[in-house]
Amino acid sequence: PMRLTKLKLSGFKSFVDPTTVPLPSSLVGVVGPNGCGKSNIIDAVRWVMGESSAKHLRGDSMADVIFNGSTSRKPVGQATVELVFDNSDGSLGGQYANYSEIAIKRTVTRDGQSIYHLNGTRCRRRDITDIFLGTGLGPRSYAIIEQGTISRIIEAKPEELRVFLEEAAGISKYKERRRETENR
Ligand code: ATP
Ligand code: MG
Repeated sequence: PMRLTKLKLSGFKSFVDPTTVPLPSSLVGVVGPNGCGKSNIIDAVRWVMGESSAKHLRGDSMADVIFNGSTSRKPVGQATVELVFDNSDGSLGGQYANYSEIAIKRTVTRDGQSIYHLNGTRCRRRDITDIFLGTGLGPRSYAIIEQGTISRIIEAKPEELRVFLEEAAGISKYKERRRETENR
């Protein structure tokens, strides 16, 4: 499977300076005192995969992900997050099969405009979300279980639970395609 190997942040929430988070193995723990930015790292992963709800990123508007200053630093104008996946086994096939690495990058400016890049080439949000459909990954997927998510699954209505099951079964991408075809 495609493995996340690196996360690069710049101007995102508390990560004002360019920061690379290496993910050297399949089990990585992030520890630190309250407020040090652990959850911000997870927010960054969800955000770059196309999360479009500010609320799900614990903010009011999309520009809230941009570092907005501290006692010693001025706010900055944009936030960038890049995810680097190892694709050397070609698990992401099709047009991406020949890339040993897949780099997905999102930048947002103060006006709320998002720009996406895939291996350095500008692309649409759709191109990014398409890659993750049916993989279990993605901005709202069950692959990210946070504080509160367990109880949300336990208390979910049947139709909400079905969304999780359909993603796990890999059929949500076909449903999405059908929806698009019907709307055309
Ligand atoms: P806990 O252990 O309490 O869950 P945590 O390590 O998960 O803490 P986060 O929620 O990731 O902490 O980080 C919170 C910090 O990020 C706060 O200090 C907050 O001020 C800072 N922060 C969030 N958004 C921004 C922003 N846009 N600009 C600057 N700092 C921000
Ligand atoms: Mg936290």
